[in-house]
Amino acid sequence: MNAALSIRVRGVVQGVGFRPFVFRLAETNGLTGWVLNGPEGVNIHVEGAERALDSFVAELKAQPPPAADITAIDISRSEAAGLSGFTIRESRRNGHPSVRVSPDLPICEMCLAELFDPADPRYLYPYINCTNCGPRYTIVERLPYDRGNTTMKRWPLDALCAAQYQDPVDRRFHAQPVACSNCGPHYRLESGDEMLAGDLPAIKRAATLLRAGQIVAIKGIGGYHLACDARNAGAVRTLRERKYRKEKPFAVMVRTVATARELAELSKETEALLASIARPIVLVAANTQLDEVAPENQELGLMLPYAPLHHLLFAAGAPEALVMTSANRSSEPIAFEDDDARQRLSGIADAFLIGERPIARRVDDSVACVGAFGPVVLRRSRGYAPGAVTTLPSRRPILALGADLKSTITLVVNGQAFISQHIGDLEHYESRKSFRETIQDLVSMYEVDWNDLAIVHDAHPQYVSTAYALELPGSYRSAVQHHRAHIASVLAEKRAWEKRVIGISFDGTGYGDDGTIWGGEFFAGSVADGFERVLHLKGAVLPGGDAAAQYPVQCAAGFLAEIDARPDLTAAPFHFPPRYRKSLDLVSKGLRIFKTTSVGRLFDTAAALLGFTRRISFEGQAAMWLEHLAQRVAPCEPYPFPIVGQELDFKPLLESVIHDRMRGRETGEIARAFHAGIAQGLCGAATVRCAENGIDTVVLSGGVFQNGLLLREIKSRLAMQIWTNGAVPPNDGGISLGQAAIASLSEPHA
Ligand code: ZN
Ligand code: FE
Repeated sequence: MNAALSIRVRGVVQGVGFRPFVFRLAETNGLTGWVLNGPEGVNIHVEGAERALDSFVAELKAQPPPAADITAIDISRSEAAGLSGFTIRESRRNGHPSVRVSPDLPICEMCLAELFDPADPRYLYPYINCTNCGPRYTIVERLPYDRGNTTMKRWPLDALCAAQYQDPVDRRFHAQPVACSNCGPHYRLESGDEMLAGDLPAIKRAATLLRAGQIVAIKGIGGYHLACDARNAGAVRTLRERKYRKEKPFAVMVRTVATARELAELSKETEALLASIARPIVLVAANTQLDEVAPENQELGLMLPYAPLHHLLFAAGAPEALVMTSANRSSEPIAFEDDDARQRLSGIADAFLIGERPIARRVDDSVACVGAFGPVVLRRSRGYAPGAVTTLPSRRPILALGADLKSTITLVVNGQAFISQHIGDLEHYESRKSFRETIQDLVSMYEVDWNDLAIVHDAHPQYVSTAYALELPGSYRSAVQHHRAHIASVLAEKRAWEKRVIGISFDGTGYGDDGTIWGGEFFAGSVADGFERVLHLKGAVLPGGDAAAQYPVQCAAGFLAEIDARPDLTAAPFHFPPRYRKSLDLVSKGLRIFKTTSVGRLFDTAAALLGFTRRISFEGQAAMWLEHLAQRVAPCEPYPFPIVGQELDFKPLLESVIHDRMRGRETGEIARAFHAGIAQGLCGAATVRCAENGIDTVVLSGGVFQNGLLLREIKSRLAMQIWTNGAVPPNDGGISLGQAAIASLSEPHA
């Protein structure tokens, strides 16, 4: 007598080789039945002996395909139908597809072996892939994820590919981007008026040019990279000049982990992160000075090859450490369309390595690091997007528009929170365009009805995203204060809705309840009941408002105006430039000044006092400079940063910095004592507020907490449970998730 089970598997289970896997599992256990892709995941019916069913279920749970991400397996008893054999049934479509589009996957071990096997039909073919690997999100144009709905639709399958595509036991069964050199797309090299066709000649020439110190634009998975030899200072300098990128570090792609070890200090965790399925850029401590790659920075962003093309380039003799930076001018969004790339990069790249497969949407490389509290994603993009990061207690769909800097959007469907790729800063026209496209993209991909959508945006009345929220259709709109969204982003990752915490948001900038610029806030409360501001940084003024973020000395003028006995900072040892005087003038006349509690600007002030008196050339540069200065020296006594009433008073902190600087104390030590002071002040305040409110957990989020040294200083001092971001960034890239979380608990009709 046969038994039967009906099984539903949810999560990332489509387009990752799940059905062939189930097929093989059923066959090996001698079970009959069927499997199909349903609207909510994969549905399985199996029948056979009890013991075989048990081992089928055990193996299903124990060894799913590498790229699958299972969130739930529902198993129920069913009627045996006396089926003979096991079949993969065609997908049926009904209802909303809550099925997830898989993120793009790096080439798998088996494809890599075939790529370099002279006997294989896909030997050296740059578009090799299978159900365990290859592009997904960057080629899908609409759901369901079938070849006809991808950018591969232009290339009909030949006999070889078609046979594999249709064979349930083949690794390429329903691998939508399947192709071979006979039927699929190819690469070519363009340089001026010259065009070199053919994958191999093109790749070889590109490798030769790179070895010769030239700059090559290379089309990858989610966009173009600009590449050059990372160890050739002249080449990197040329790239900086042509790209108008003064000092911001470049990411480096290394051929192997061994190459990575030559360049940087790697822990087990960083190596695991480097090789993780998203293949992010991982920030690590450099042990060689690659001056032009990351000037005045002991950190290096490394990544491993992830596309077959990258492996082919290295095999063809490209330098083993390649600068691989987003192809754009300055901070514009990355180029991903061929004509646009040719046009925008014409003055930058010496040659273009162009692949024919179109990219459906721009997806940058992700950035991650191993921090004091474990791995954390700092830019969530390729390899992660558009995966769901968490579930939210919401029945209705929610669209959260994030912040204007480091924009991401979050769409909640059937309680699952999908986060878009990193969109960038909405000050750029191109970013605004891709912001709008990404919204349309996700909403239509998940077939959400605009009339059902609750829309959430930042409370900043002047944000581009706020203005856009007001234009969108939708049944309900709400605003969420920036720093509460930061705190909620951590709690959303933990799925802790009722948990009462002290949430601390140290940040660059964000619109506060009172219309001033916040960024040094303590809250008590929960996502469900809301967050009450219970303490904050003592207020200062910012002459020129947010524009002051470009000039540390301008921030300094605002913060130092609070200090009565301050020396002439234009003289030695400070040498502040004239901008400082002008800013002080604005402060004393009360002209164009804005109130702020931003800890980010406090860091800028300290950096200015220790020698960073020029304009910054990328966001967060002064604070990073200060962190690296402090990192070189041993721990030392913290400067005082006391609580006075409802405020943390920065005056004693800055007075100590000035005093020690004037008496000639080493600047690294001063920077270290400053970090320790911030940490000690934070911990003292957190402890007091926790005790008063009967709370045992502290949440940290906001851009300032990208500072690894600060986190270590806090961790060593605070006895309480500390929660930080991991899956989403502590910077504004995590705001949309926090907004969605708060909205999901404050729906008008849940
Ligand atoms: Zn593969
Ligand atoms: Fe922020």
